[in-house]
Amino acid sequence: MIVIDEQNIIIRNYIAYLEFLNQKLSKFFESQKPYIFCKKGCGQCCKHSQFPYSAIEFRYLLSGALTLDNKTQKKIELNIKNILEKKKKSRAKKFLYDCPFLIDNVCSVYNYRGVICRTFGLMTSTENQKIKAPFCAFKGLNYSNVLNLRKKNISVRKFKKLNTTSEPLGFNVSYKYLTCTDYEEAFNIKFGESKPLIEWFL
Ligand code: SF4
Ligand code: SF4
Repeated sequence: MIVIDEQNIIIRNYIAYLEFLNQKLSKFFESQKPYIFCKKGCGQCCKHSQFPYSAIEFRYLLSGALTLDNKTQKKIELNIKNILEKKKKSRAKKFLYDCPFLIDNVCSVYNYRGVICRTFGLMTSTENQKIKAPFCAFKGLNYSNVLNLRKKNISVRKFKKLNTTSEPLGFNVSYKYLTCTDYEEAFNIKFGESKPLIEWFL
């Protein structure tokens, strides 16, 4: 008798969704090349945040962590322990922390990272057509060469100076949208409950 593992099918479908997402986001990043300054070892987007993760994303992330060497796994475990201790003492309504999977400023589970992590660095467009720069624009990184940071809009003067035909654009890459039921139906997956990454370790 052939036994079909339902969980494996779900993960296989999730991987297909991630491949689709990667293709979509790669096109966005490619079109924004003149404004993107991401490089390995930056890692600022992996710090001081909440990192929403759904059940399926978390499961896949863990499967990636299990492929790491023992030393790296131990570092991640220690990071998780330290963050949870800080969380216990914190009175903040919105507890912010550095991602425990960030080791030496590099994502240790890059190929297994969640949806939100894949969108870091793009400019987003909101439902009312407003654009929102990534936080690192204010640190002299992505889009800082084309934004008027005081007025929080695109500077025509800066854009002209860059002498590029690629327009700075915002994309609908909100976590809510990328994990909506349309995608669940299209890829036959269920994202499941979503919560800050660290809360999956409670
Ligand atoms: S999983 Fe990786 S990319 Fe995502 S926040 Fe953590 S270190 Fe950054
Ligand atoms: S999105 Fe911003 S903070 Fe993150 S790696 Fe790129 S430049 Fe650095």
